[in-house]
Amino acid sequence: MSDCLFCKIVAGEIPATVVAESDSSLAFYDIAPQAPVHVLVIPKEHFASVNDVTDANEYVFDNLMSLVRTVVVDEGIKDSGYRLVFNTGEHGQQTVPHLHAHVLGGRKLTWPPG
Ligand code: 5GP
Ligand code: ZN
Repeated sequence: MSDCLFCKIVAGEIPATVVAESDSSLAFYDIAPQAPVHVLVIPKEHFASVNDVTDANEYVFDNLMSLVRTVVVDEGIKDSGYRLVFNTGEHGQQTVPHLHAHVLGGRKLTWPPG
């Protein structure tokens, strides 16, 4: 997807502060952090949202979660706790149409979300 922001980050065409990487996934700091730790974990392959992952390509979540596990250890939030968020579609207020997990932590987060 040549016009996709996160595909451009994967391609190195837009800079990002990468914190972890695997063959299939990339983790980098969110440009507008909402918590002391705010990392985005994305598949390198383009999927528009959670809705594009089906039984046929569930490996995408396996690979993504593998990198999330690395990130929460490296960022020191595994034991204190954290939140994983997949904003999806209009009601989910998704703004970048490339599948991504927000990893939020480093403070006690409020619930419910707005
Ligand atoms: P969404 O709103 O789709 O769930 O999340 C998109 C996230 O991407 C937002 O938290 C936003 O701050 C972040 N973001 C948007 N543009 C950039 C960028 O160019 N670089 C980085 N690192 N994060 C971005
Ligand atoms: Zn993309």
